Parts: sequence; C-alpha cells; structure tokens
Amino acid sequence: MFSDVADLAWLAGFIDGEGSFHFRRSAGRRIGSKNYYYPAIRICNTDVPTLATVQRIADAAGLGYNVYWRHPKNSNLSSWDMEARGTKRLLPWLTTMIPYLHTKRSQAEDVLRFLTLRSEDHSQRDYSSTEYEILHRISKRGLIKPRQGVPAPATACKHGHPFTDENTYTWHGKRSCRTCRSAANQRVAARRKEERRLLRSST
Ligand SMILES: [Zn+2]
Repeated sequence: MFSDVADLAWLAGFIDGEGSFHFRRSAGRRIGSKNYYYPAIRICNTDVPTLATVQRIADAAGLGYNVYWRHPKNSNLSSWDMEARGTKRLLPWLTTMIPYLHTKRSQAEDVLRFLTLRSEDHSQRDYSSTEYEILHRISKRGLIKPRQGVPAPATACKHGHPFTDENTYTWHGKRSCRTCRSAANQRVAARRKEERRLLRSST
C-alpha cells in the first residue's frame, strides 16, 4: 500500500507527543500454562477530528488498531484511545514508524527488540534478563511479575484432609474442608461450655 511520507512523519510526530508503549499482562488460564506479557501501542487524544486523520493514515499504511472512547462523568470532554495490541498488530506499527519517530524512538526500538528475542523462542521458558530489562524499562509504573505456571488445584486442605465431594463445601467461592469446619465448631462449643462452667463456679 502506498503511504505518503509526509503523512507518516505527521503520525510519528503525533505518537511522539500522544502515544505510549505498554506491556500488558496475560494470566495463564490452563493449569501449567504461564502468564506472559504482550506489547501494545496506545494513542490518546480529545480532539475528535484528529482521530479521522490518524485512522486515514493508519489505514493507508495497513496498520491495524481498535478505537475506544472515554466519557468522563464529571466532564463533557470525551477522549479517544487508539490501540494496537499483540505482536502481530504491533510489529507493522514499529517497523513503519521507527524511522520517523524522535522522542519515542528508543522505546519503540526496545519493544521491537523484545519481539525479535521472543520470536526466536516459542517455548514457555522464563524471560531472559535482557527481556526483563526491556519489560521494566517500558513499564515504568507497571509491576512486572515473574513468569509462573498456573498451579494445579490442591487435592487436600492445609491439614491434609482430602477434598472429596463429601468433605468439600464452597465458602466465598473457595473450596473449604468439612472436617476442619466441624473441628472448629467443636472447639467453639467446648470454649462456650468452659466459659459457662467458670461463670457458675464464680457465683
Ligand atoms: Zn481439613
């Protein structure tokens, strides 16, 4: 697709001012699968006509994105977010915009380097120290957690009673142990009885 150089340079200038790069955390879902970080670029602005210009240039360059609107309750000033998430979508943004970027160029190069390192290895290995360095540099305020597998659910309570159907109930969305509950109830009953006994003997 043909893109006007002046258009791309204008968009890069807009990203220099209004754009930002992020890593978003995706938690593992299946047991044993690990959380991972995927990159995103976001461009935010309140000027509605500008969105049409940004979209026109992105479309002409074949860059994919989503648009989200924010309507703050205490203000009649709406703002829009244009976002491209994930390696497949972000890669063309990076390779197209890096030659034109100024203030955000080193960030964009950092993200591109991360994606290049990841593309060389699709295993569920932990990130390398270089990759962690990039994650921390880009996510200045975001907390980067280490890669961890989703643990298998426990087969027994912390006191070793098995989580069988008969021994298990759900309390606030968490599996709980009936054996432990009845032991706790018995302790409470014994304490009450002792309190009553002490009360009687003191009168
Ligand atoms: Zn138990």
